Amino acid sequence: MINSKLPNIETSIFAKMSKMAAEHNALNLSQGFPNFPSDPVLNALVDQAMRDGFNQYAPMQGDFELRMEISKKIENLHNPFYNPETEITITAGATQAIFTVIAATISKNDEVIIFTPAYDCYAPTVELFGGKVVPIQLKPPFYTVDWQEVADKISSKTKMIIINSPHNPSGMLFSKDDMLQLQNLAEKNDLLVLSDEVYEHIIFDENVHQSASKFPQLVARSFVTGSFGKTFHNTGWKMGYCAAPEKLMKEFQKVHQFVVFCVNHPFQKAFATYLKDASHYLKLSDFYQQKRDFFLHLMEGSNFKIIPSRGTYFQMLDFSEISKESDIAFAERLTKKFKIATIPTSVFNESGKDFKQIRICFAKTDQTLAEAATILKKINSQ
Ligand code: PMP
Ligand code: GLN
Repeated sequence: MINSKLPNIETSIFAKMSKMAAEHNALNLSQGFPNFPSDPVLNALVDQAMRDGFNQYAPMQGDFELRMEISKKIENLHNPFYNPETEITITAGATQAIFTVIAATISKNDEVIIFTPAYDCYAPTVELFGGKVVPIQLKPPFYTVDWQEVADKISSKTKMIIINSPHNPSGMLFSKDDMLQLQNLAEKNDLLVLSDEVYEHIIFDENVHQSASKFPQLVARSFVTGSFGKTFHNTGWKMGYCAAPEKLMKEFQKVHQFVVFCVNHPFQKAFATYLKDASHYLKLSDFYQQKRDFFLHLMEGSNFKIIPSRGTYFQMLDFSEISKESDIAFAERLTKKFKIATIPTSVFNESGKDFKQIRICFAKTDQTLAEAATILKKINSQ
């Protein structure tokens, strides 16, 4: 009766591990979400917008004031001007933005290059529209790109490259040189770029976020996606955006209008006001850097090998000196026996390659991080 369009796809690892955490009453450091509240000021703005009557459809592209604020934010941070009338769309989280970009651009037999470990929604969405995923494996611990390998994998069928920096799950970053190499290849081969920048405001030490929108020739061929959930501690609100030049955004919106038409109105109104104060997102890196450092300090002397995360709210833990188990078995044992849930990262790799790395989310209260470190430090080799 039905031929599955995604016969090999199972329930996402995030849903699986969060469920396992709940079943075993384990500390949940698996799925990426904060366990502290979103700002009461922002919550009150949502409430106010509902009282003010913004309870019917928003404009299809999104609330104009919010699009203006996003345009200003990008211009202030990275320089290019995205016209809020025609070049920005508000979406139901970055997931819908990514889905819509791929739906609008990828046809049967188009090839799409993704870097693995890759966030889980890219490949299935490409396949849903008949595209072919061409994975390029990044290698731990620094997960850097071999641009010669990318050049070698580009064919006459390559349509798009998907990038994600700061990178989930590795916590590593693309450098300026990476972006220049990407720009060069994209230009030379006339490729589209989907730059998933949901962790754009979570970046540590002396590093700078190399947004695709900093590079003029990339801007011309890129869709840039963002997520308010990551930036403002409310992943459950599912609010995000996409920015792209008019020609690309026009195609995006043709699809967007039939995926959701528009996303919920009072939240857009609230974000339009909240974004006017840039400190709300400019302070975020310091906030999370403190959490990373707090956690890493507590982990000193553990049996895990750790390269400090450079961005995102994720930290990779290498357990190769603790166990020879697969990362899936190890993560399962940690959840059931030690009562701490993490994410095995082989599920994001090409052919499930297992580098013995699990990912924890440190968007947690200091108390949770302290409890987590106490448990993790007890895990010895056997
Ligand atoms: N891309 C990456 C790399 C992510 O980690 C996430 C996770 N949340 C998303 C996209 C999806 O974002 P949203 O929750 O806004 O849909
Ligand atoms: N982005 C979140 C993570 O990486 C999960 C989002 C989801 O559950 N789909 O953990």
